[in-house]
Amino acid sequence: MRDVVVIGTDTDAGKTTFSLLFLAAFGTEFAYWKPVETGPSDTETVRRLLPDTTIFPPHARFETPVAPPLAAAIAGQRMPPPRDVARQKPASPQPLLIESFGSPLSPFTDEELQTEFLRELRAPLWLIGSSAVGAVGRTLQAVRSLKAEGLSVSAVILLGDSDEYAVGQIQRHEPQLTVVSLPRPREWTAEGIREAAGGCREQLATLRASRIEPTPLAENELIAHDRQFVWHPYTSLCDPLDPLPVVSAEREFLNLADGRRLIDASSSWWTILHGHRHPPLMHALRQATRSLDHVLFAGATHPHAVELAGMLLRSTPWDGGRVFYSDNGSTAVEVALKMAYQCWCHRGETQRTLFVGFDDCYHGDTFGAMAVSRDPVFFGRFEPLLFRTARVPVSAERLDEFLANHAAEVAAVIIEPLVQGAGGMKFYTPAELWAIWEVTRRHGVLFIVDEVMTANRMGTIWAFEQAGVSPDLICAAKTLTGGVLPLAATLASPNVAHAFDTADRTRTFFHGHSFTANPLACAVAVANWKLIEGGTWKCDAERINRFWHAKLPGARICGTIAAVDVPASGGYLAEVGPKIRQLAIEHGVLLRPLGNVVYAMPPLCTSDESLARIADVMRHVVTPRSL
Ligand SMILES: *Cc1c(COP(=O)(O)O)cnc(C)c1O
Repeated sequence: MRDVVVIGTDTDAGKTTFSLLFLAAFGTEFAYWKPVETGPSDTETVRRLLPDTTIFPPHARFETPVAPPLAAAIAGQRMPPPRDVARQKPASPQPLLIESFGSPLSPFTDEELQTEFLRELRAPLWLIGSSAVGAVGRTLQAVRSLKAEGLSVSAVILLGDSDEYAVGQIQRHEPQLTVVSLPRPREWTAEGIREAAGGCREQLATLRASRIEPTPLAENELIAHDRQFVWHPYTSLCDPLDPLPVVSAEREFLNLADGRRLIDASSSWWTILHGHRHPPLMHALRQATRSLDHVLFAGATHPHAVELAGMLLRSTPWDGGRVFYSDNGSTAVEVALKMAYQCWCHRGETQRTLFVGFDDCYHGDTFGAMAVSRDPVFFGRFEPLLFRTARVPVSAERLDEFLANHAAEVAAVIIEPLVQGAGGMKFYTPAELWAIWEVTRRHGVLFIVDEVMTANRMGTIWAFEQAGVSPDLICAAKTLTGGVLPLAATLASPNVAHAFDTADRTRTFFHGHSFTANPLACAVAVANWKLIEGGTWKCDAERINRFWHAKLPGARICGTIAAVDVPASGGYLAEVGPKIRQLAIEHGVLLRPLGNVVYAMPPLCTSDESLARIADVMRHVVTPRSL
């Protein structure tokens, strides 16, 4: 059962005429809803001509026949925003035929166009046009401008004299569309409508059938095939829980195949920054697909990578530096480790083979990253294969003690600034970070900040900014594209880059990945970084931080993260983790506890209402009697 939205190439295209024809043919199967009306009421016309149809009243109705925000103002009122109107969609046992007003780009409120509303309705669009002269151009123009807005039309209906040529042309240029031509009723009476509908029942039936999009797999089949063919990260092949079948996402929400909607409280493994399918980022992606898919990055370049590198370097405390691209956080770390060691080699200090990490740190799942993290649960199995590293508590004094004895063999110290994420959301202060950095300066070792999780989550672009330190290497990944596509960058300070500034080819940094600096990912990252430079996102980061302070007293809070420890034994493998996840899902929130640590790190767009829901669920799951 799928709803359909009727839109028109322009105001008088014949949306209501079409609705009448369609409902006359299949009126008992569908219900009619025109959510926003101005001027003479189409709802009343439908009611008068087709009294047997189920009709839901408009949500907003104004007398003056002008754009809704203006008509509302004349009536001394305001148009509610698109999202609110979409939420009022009637719960109807039959699918709805939803008629839009005016044209798709008509103003909905003073700030938003109707396209925003169409997006919220999440139903296929049927475009009504007239078969009069110019039909092909007019229709294609409308279809393509909607596509540029990320809205896809599924059918085109030309009203008027039958025009085989126009139908053929539209079909040829937009082959995925269902295109039909329908006669206009001879007279606007119940009889006239029924007669016209009877004459084109076949075309109307084609349209009705086109609503059922061929879904690749039914939900139960999807899960069964998943369990047969797919291997999921950090998941046992015998996991008792089925994976969640996610079919779409927007803002802070994930939509499941069975109609459930979950709040993505941990931003899909900390990647989604602004929200799912954030319009400026999706727009940048669509634009970028028009020119370049991918190109090798050795001996070739492209504007997106260059523009992004410039922006990234502008955000650092350095004057200069270089950006090395890869495609995930672990490789960003590998690159930093390899660069740090090779940098020392170029300076004639080949003995510096030791890296220093901190207790409970996490830097990724590849070998170098595992070696510096050495988490016993995640990586204990690989211990015999990992190279020698050192680990100290997060403490400037302890690092100082260690370096006092070993500085000459140390290439670099690597740290997650302010928050140790996967290690259990452990926080420490900017002052402590500053003191640790100062120790590395004193002992003359390189300082790598792994900002893969912390960038843009702490209310500043980089977490290390808050400590006023200047690292030698910066690793970025997760939110670099706002979470849309995989992309990572290792930023090298001028002093590191300088060591490679030589024509001696044996001193090349021999490292690269097939998808280094993928142009589509870089284009989205540029759009994301423009938003970040714009700075308005900081208001949301502050709003979320304030919300946690107000509504989760007792939680550990840092930036947009709130974490609570559930008293339980077992660390990451604690039994409570999966139970908490299940319980939260039942309350509409997707949490992924780190063992007994329950935390939220929602996308920046998350509404106060959704934050409240997350806070309620967190409070609920940590009370022992609920588990
Ligand atoms: C997630 C993470 C990584 C690894 O990034 P991937 O893209 O998952 O390889 C590295 N460092 C930190 C701090 C992380 O949170």
